[in-house]
Amino acid sequence: MSLYAGFDLGGTHLKYGLVDERGKISLKEKVSSPPEIEDLLGRIKDLWQDKLKKQQGHIRAVGFGFPGIFDLKEKKTYQSPNYPSLDNYDLVQALSRFIDVPFWVNNDANMAAFGEFKAGSGQGVQSLVLLTIGTGVGSGIILEGKLWQGKCGYAGELGHIIVNPEGEKCNCGGQGCLETEVSAPKIVKNYMALKKKEMNISAEEIFNLAKKGDEEARQAFAQASFYLGIGLATTLNLLNPEKILLGGGVMSAQEYLLPGALAEAKRRTYQASFECCFIEKASLGNDAGVIGSALWAAEQMNVDHLLL
Ligand SMILES: [Zn+2]
Repeated sequence: MSLYAGFDLGGTHLKYGLVDERGKISLKEKVSSPPEIEDLLGRIKDLWQDKLKKQQGHIRAVGFGFPGIFDLKEKKTYQSPNYPSLDNYDLVQALSRFIDVPFWVNNDANMAAFGEFKAGSGQGVQSLVLLTIGTGVGSGIILEGKLWQGKCGYAGELGHIIVNPEGEKCNCGGQGCLETEVSAPKIVKNYMALKKKEMNISAEEIFNLAKKGDEEARQAFAQASFYLGIGLATTLNLLNPEKILLGGGVMSAQEYLLPGALAEAKRRTYQASFECCFIEKASLGNDAGVIGSALWAAEQMNVDHLLL
């Protein structure tokens, strides 16, 4: 049984694990991710040499999910709102100094979508969209059984489709993106606006208040659900996918988010298109990025092999 390593880099943590070619995870861990690139590379080098390579035997290939725009042609990380030290960085060259097996870098949300497609709730379908709603909104698209990367690798950024032209300013340079209107910080902002006061509170705490019957807490999610519905409608109208999978921390509050979003999506799409698509929860949770990165590496190895 061949093993593949997957890395999933986030703004605060680096997750990693080992996965077999069927997507079964045999090791999963996470460490903090230092903000400076040289410190981060040092940490990855130690993990690779002392932990993964020495202790786990032969690893056939490595996949690396990166939180931002990765240019497929230049093989460079272009822009990472949550990891600015990686802007315009030659990550492939830096990793190749110590990773001595074939490896591939790709966008983290693309890798999570690929993981759900190969080993999660997307198994067996030919077209799907994964949306993860947390501190931001990540997404990846599978079309005709393949990850849709676009010409340069920037496709699948549904977090940055415009759902509210007059909405919040976004890190991408836009305004009123799906990310700015439905992610955890916006739910906090909605709640404070409804309560008419500044508070030190998290979206999770607002979810707990909603469960206890706090009307403004429920309203804070309902406001976000309206815009999520617009995002879902755009996705349905554009792609007619077999499935849309929803994941991320904010989806824990799906009872306050999903019914409104589905009603809004239904109102803004052709009925047939809405009914053709299953909209459900993603199943791999926080492991999707690690599993997807590792399986992406496995797939590239097999593709390369077939080309030889
Ligand atoms: Zn944006």
